[in-house]
Amino acid sequence: MADSYEEFEATSLFCPRCRKAVPVRKKLLLVLPTGTKYDYLCAECGAPVGGKVDEDPTEFRRMVPPPRGLPPRARRLPGLRGPGTRAGGREPAP
Ligand SMILES: [Zn+2]
Repeated sequence: MADSYEEFEATSLFCPRCRKAVPVRKKLLLVLPTGTKYDYLCAECGAPVGGKVDEDPTEFRRMVPPPRGLPPRARRLPGLRGPGTRAGGREPAP
């Protein structure tokens, strides 16, 4: 999960190494409950030319779903449900 988060933005920023305005790559740096932090890298030489913080917790919620009402051990893992896990319970729907 590294390169897939990089995407080209329409914006151009001044790169001190290239000494000109360059197209930038947006790289996901940090996902916080309060927002998502991005770094802007020069698309030509890769030097960091800026950054920004999205005050949008959507990314965080997507990556870390809140364990609302579920004890940590009851977390269901898809694909790991073997026979006998639900002793005496209902059969899972096919
Ligand atoms: Zn550059």
